[in-house]
Amino acid sequence: MQRDTDDRHAGRVPAGDTAAMHCELCGPVWIHPSIAEVLPVVDHWPRALGCPWCFVRKAGGYIPRPSVAL
Ligand SMILES: [Zn+2]
Repeated sequence: MQRDTDDRHAGRVPAGDTAAMHCELCGPVWIHPSIAEVLPVVDHWPRALGCPWCFVRKAGGYIPRPSVAL
């Protein structure tokens, strides 16, 4: 998990984070499918009030975005 954290700090999507979710604070972000599948889905997006990218956003870092063409 520390490697995933390092990846996100560097603006990289961790290997295996192949699902998209909508963070209420960050917008669309990549997430691990095991996390996405337990989130409530609204308008085709798994949604949550926070995500693993929130701390990257707070630090002013780059967040890679999944396609929003759904
Ligand atoms: Zn977030």
